[in-house]
Amino acid sequence: MKQDFDEAAKKVLAWVLHYRTRIEDLPVLPSVNFGDTLAALPTEPPKAPEEFATILRDFEQMILPGITHWQHPSFFGYFPSMSSPPSVLAEIIMAAMGLQCMSWVTSPAATELEIRMMEWLTKAFGLSADFTGSIQDSASSSTMVAMLVAREKRTDFAINHFGYRGEALTAYCSTEAHSSIEKAAKMIGLGKENLRRIPVDQNEAMRLDLLEEAICRDIAEGRTPYFLVGAFGTTGTTAVDDLAGLARLAKRYKLWFHIDAAYAGNALILPEIRPLATGLNEADSVVINAHKWLLTAFDCSTFFIKDTDALKNTFSILPEYLKREESDDVVNFRDWGPGLGRRFRSLKLWFVLRWYGVEGVRALMRDQLRLAETFEGWVRADERFEVVTPRLFNVVCFRVKGANDVNEALLQSLNDTGELFMTHTKVRGNYTLRMVIGQTNVSLSHVERAWALITTHIKALSDR
Ligand SMILES: *Cc1c(COP(=O)(O)O)cnc(C)c1O
Repeated sequence: MKQDFDEAAKKVLAWVLHYRTRIEDLPVLPSVNFGDTLAALPTEPPKAPEEFATILRDFEQMILPGITHWQHPSFFGYFPSMSSPPSVLAEIIMAAMGLQCMSWVTSPAATELEIRMMEWLTKAFGLSADFTGSIQDSASSSTMVAMLVAREKRTDFAINHFGYRGEALTAYCSTEAHSSIEKAAKMIGLGKENLRRIPVDQNEAMRLDLLEEAICRDIAEGRTPYFLVGAFGTTGTTAVDDLAGLARLAKRYKLWFHIDAAYAGNALILPEIRPLATGLNEADSVVINAHKWLLTAFDCSTFFIKDTDALKNTFSILPEYLKREESDDVVNFRDWGPGLGRRFRSLKLWFVLRWYGVEGVRALMRDQLRLAETFEGWVRADERFEVVTPRLFNVVCFRVKGANDVNEALLQSLNDTGELFMTHTKVRGNYTLRMVIGQTNVSLSHVERAWALITTHIKALSDR
């Protein structure tokens, strides 16, 4: 049996286009239990080729019922993982070409497009011109890269060479900082215990006084503080640390200053947001996930760093099979992070930035910020509810006044409807709902529907 690629491709494109129109009829969160999909799948691989029409039918029947629809406009959970038409189109072309963009020579235009896209974003985000960027798969990788480069720069590249020989390095972030920092501390052999989690103030921002105390204590006890992470938009509540204050301390104690702006950093494309990020350009490295809120599908984590020599010294390798005569100017992104093989992710950014234009992206974000403001207004006007933390972006953190289990029951009953999906966090022990309004196609009607559901369900819960 010979598969006809043209016919199959047409079917898939038709599926893709249809998916976008029917997504709102699908439940945002599937109602399945662990093992349901496994039970539908044969335990043995097929021996003979199968018809593509059959494969696609089984995808509809076995897989789709177990999918969480991240592009549903009423997906208000976690942070969005935006996709958009130009991003989808770029992914199709990328998949067709199946490139490995590890070295310049393995696809010269891919490397050079990545260089130019990162220059575009440096400008679009208002980052200073001494930042250079590359695209990583995730913020977790970007932060680990920063933590390693900082370590090597601080120890004169000794740990890469000899392994740890008793260096007592310490790193700092707030208790609200993302779990990827702790994961990186484990992966690079720093040790979770040597990552100090500094308490936060009433706005969930790191306490500078306690940070300085911790640094001084470590120095007094003979350790070497080397790395500081500031948050621009924590995952729980999108809180922002005092970046200028952190930058001052980083300078005073010679720490590498990394900013985790994985989600909210995308909003730096709006000039009116930048005053929140005063101190940003004092950082040594910054990570912003275009794959969260910049209309570009996962994966596309943009990582900005000033000292690219230290970066390359940390990661560069040159086995015989990669050696070739080339000038020192040639950029080989294999030397900029842990992976050798790399995807052609810059194509997505190029398509997205040209399809929307910077002004188009700004208009969409401003719309979402206004929707969040509107939603916040409804919450504030209803005396059954409270807004828990100041709203800085398109995330509203709110709760029903009263016990945690009422809030937990509310979230559960909302998500059970399949009409929307929200997630929660805890703020000072209080169970808090997060309304994240960041989908490509979210509009006022979706937010209104969500609020109607919330008020109906809380009434049903209190009437019980
Ligand atoms: C989402 C998020 C991360 C992790 O992002 P990945 O790309 O999934 O690794 C890190 N930090 C913050 C603040 C985040 O919101």
